[in-house]
Amino acid sequence: MVVIDSIKTGIVIDHITAGLGMKILEYLDIDTTKNTVALIMNAVSNKFGRKDVVKIENVVDIDLAALGIIDPKVTVNVIEDHIIKRKIHVTVPEKVVNIIKCNNPRCVTSVESGAPQVFHLIDRENREYRCDYCDEIISMKGGYSNEVLHKQWFDR
Ligand SMILES: [Zn+2]
Repeated sequence: MVVIDSIKTGIVIDHITAGLGMKILEYLDIDTTKNTVALIMNAVSNKFGRKDVVKIENVVDIDLAALGIIDPKVTVNVIEDHIIKRKIHVTVPEKVVNIIKCNNPRCVTSVESGAPQVFHLIDRENREYRCDYCDEIISMKGGYSNEVLHKQWFDR
């Protein structure tokens, strides 16, 4: 990883809660043999005190729903020709497909490989989601100790 001051084309994920930048990078699983990625940890922010910032060169299409689950405070800046073309404020998504994995070993999605993992939001404040198949509830707020976010799980 290298620090880059400005990028020609790509995205800058700003206002990440300090400490969550690595989590976001892990989830996005960017191919670093093809794209330059910079993670700035614990930067001083006038708005939030401390923040992380992620810059990814040449990638403009990322999973905004996943970002909304990990950290709904982030802002995504889409950069073209060195200027910010779009600023996206992510939200906590109502429905998510193949982002969270069901923890219930008896759930059809655990038994049948390839079954889509579908969850609906039941509590926005606590980012709690219910599995469409078995009603298992997963909370995404807090330390993410159950590690339910892994993009690679669904790339099969
Ligand atoms: Zn389930």
